[in-house]
Amino acid sequence: MKTDGSGGKLLLVDDDMLLRGMAAQTLRHAGFAIEEAESGEDALALFGRTPFDLVLLDVMMPGLDGYQVCERMRAHPGAALLPILMLTGLNDTESIELAYRSGATDFIAKPINWTLLVHRVRYALRASAAAENLARGRDSLERAQRLAGMGSWEWVSASGRMTCSAEYLRFCGLAFAVFDNTTPDAVLAGVHPDDHEKVRAARVAALAQGQGYQLTFDARRFDGERRTVFELTNVVKDAQGRIARVDGIMQDITQRLATERRIHELAFHDALTGLPNRRLFDQIVQAALERARRLGSMCAVLHVDLDRFKGVNDAYGNDAGDALLRLVAERLEACTRSSDFACVNRLPLESEMVARVGGNAFTILLCDVAGADAAGVAAQRLLDAIARPMTLGARELVLTASAGISMFPRDAGDLAGLTRFAEQALYAAKDAGRARHRFFDEAMNKVASSRLELESDLRRAIDTGELRLYLQPKVDAASGTVTAAEALVRWQHPQRGMVAPGEFIPLAEKTGLIVPLGDWVLETACGYLRDWGAAGLASVPLSINLSAPSFLKADLVAQLDDALRRHGLAACQLTIEVTESMLMGDLKLTIARLGELRERGFGLSMDDFGTGYSSLSYLKQFPIDELKIDRSFVRDVTNGRRDAALVASIIGLGRQFGLRVVAEGVETPEQARLLLALGCPDQQGYLFARPMPVAQFEALLAAGGKVAGIDDRQSAPIDVPGVLPAAPPLALAGVLSLADRETALAG
Ligand code: C2E
Ligand code: CA
Ligand code: CA
Repeated sequence: MKTDGSGGKLLLVDDDMLLRGMAAQTLRHAGFAIEEAESGEDALALFGRTPFDLVLLDVMMPGLDGYQVCERMRAHPGAALLPILMLTGLNDTESIELAYRSGATDFIAKPINWTLLVHRVRYALRASAAAENLARGRDSLERAQRLAGMGSWEWVSASGRMTCSAEYLRFCGLAFAVFDNTTPDAVLAGVHPDDHEKVRAARVAALAQGQGYQLTFDARRFDGERRTVFELTNVVKDAQGRIARVDGIMQDITQRLATERRIHELAFHDALTGLPNRRLFDQIVQAALERARRLGSMCAVLHVDLDRFKGVNDAYGNDAGDALLRLVAERLEACTRSSDFACVNRLPLESEMVARVGGNAFTILLCDVAGADAAGVAAQRLLDAIARPMTLGARELVLTASAGISMFPRDAGDLAGLTRFAEQALYAAKDAGRARHRFFDEAMNKVASSRLELESDLRRAIDTGELRLYLQPKVDAASGTVTAAEALVRWQHPQRGMVAPGEFIPLAEKTGLIVPLGDWVLETACGYLRDWGAAGLASVPLSINLSAPSFLKADLVAQLDDALRRHGLAACQLTIEVTESMLMGDLKLTIARLGELRERGFGLSMDDFGTGYSSLSYLKQFPIDELKIDRSFVRDVTNGRRDAALVASIIGLGRQFGLRVVAEGVETPEQARLLLALGCPDQQGYLFARPMPVAQFEALLAAGGKVAGIDDRQSAPIDVPGVLPAAPPLALAGVLSLADRETALAG
């Protein structure tokens, strides 16, 4: 037998020294550690100092008797479950009763049977360990239930009583006093009155017919708040198969539902505008198409895209772009919800719907449309709504949008087809000049597939030498002297013939092919310059057009330096044309890049001036030396005062900044003459020369580098409108915003 005390630590209290000694010896021998006390007072002092696993306590002692000592020990924190065995010589009911009342766990009668003593002690220790485990289990269950917002109850068939867990009662705000004395009706008090009947019926059926259930209902929490709870029951039967009780678990799922809603919201909505995203849109459209098929009705899918939105982002920053997108979303939503679209029979909810499906693209579904005409009216209304002026900080902006429309079932019978065709129609609307809507038709499909084909062809074209570089002179308008030339790329397509850059540059930009294409242009242009030098031709500077990715690539300067070195050229022989909107992206970076190029001695030209969104005041910051007035201004310059005034201001401003101003797209002598009169002798356009193959240009140089100038032409003197720059007519010294431009052109 073990005598090491590992069986437990006991406190032995008896004033009878002999009995104490024998008991101690017996118990030590049985493996217990024993501390002895000869009085109640001693015992309490020891008890206060160290914890014991069990107390053996004599009843009859001088001073504090065993009952008093037992009561005090019980009152100690943590001693509620401690086994206390009373040693009593009084084998009568009254003292046994007294022992229990004072909190004793059990009693052992004197004279003591020593063998039995050991067993009784062991038994008491085991029982107390089991009780402790149980209590610990109940504690952790309660904790877990509380954490999970979960309560439980059991409804016992025989007694008709319902017992609820602490967490259940806490949730309902019921007193703990009624813990296992609660009638089912009282428990219904936690259920929201709206759901009383539902819950009562389910619970009663469970107990009466043994049908377990799952139920979600509303509850009224202790604080009066309405919560959603989920209840799951299990019917327990006895050995005879009779319904013994129903166990229920209920959980407060309010938070979970809210989270699920939020997740749903995030997964199916666009974070910026709160509109449905493509996923949700697709789901709803699928359902709507099903329905339309059944009812034999028509639907329209509109693909709406903001025109030149990138420019807005570039010029005003992404925050402003976001704000505008939100505004556009609001307008679209307002327009579709309150609309009087020509719907045959309007359905709530999904009859119209706006979704944001891309950066600046929105898709709209119209159900039960009377016909294509009605869809067209709807589309125009949406575009008009977008085109109303918007205020951005202190600025007023006009944003336009284009739309493509596809019709169900006319154009396609499924969502994928409708979406694709609406997008193709959108491209057509953009090609036709933007700010308009277009319906899908078969011809567009052909254009789209040929666009795809073109893309794969273009990958090849650069390597197989299908690209050509044409040259268009810049001239002194009066004399016709060629002062420079612009290199313009062409694509000699084996089947399609000569393809204009307008068709493949955007494609090249989209596919990243623009960088190798730009490299090819640079190499070829440098090659021409070298050849002219070698042939002793009086050469002129060549300009090349750079796209944003080429302009921004990190090794551009090194690449240019290398090209100059290899071809033996000077930087001043090359001019780099960049567009205004290209420069607006990262102002700091572009200004730095321009500075580097300027320092090397390259010519820098700002192309298509006036078509971007930038303010003229930016001009000051750009270290450039040439400004090219966009063709659209030149085209309109002879149309009236206003347009002439606009061009006059640009020329005036360019000069003020010491820039050479070139008018591009000059087609008529009237335009040329007016531009000359406005102070712009440097011109470029079909009037003087079209872009031409290099051989032709070389011939032109060899013949003296001169085309027919204005002085060489016979023509009636033209009437220069009296607008010449007194003061800039518009607010041009400051900002030429998109809105100015629109009003200027509209006026
Ligand atoms: P851009 O840089 O503004 O080039 C001027 C465009 O106007 C050229 O069109 C030219 O042929 C055309 N043009 C010149 N004079 C007249 C005229 O009197 N009337 C009319 N209606 N048009 C005139 P092109 O060659 O089709 O090039 C279109 C655009 O493609 C260019 O506009 C430029 O942005 C781009 N591009 C052309 N070559 C290259 C290139 O090598 N690299 C890059 N990145 N872009 C290029
Ligand atoms: Ca150009
Ligand atoms: Ca241009």
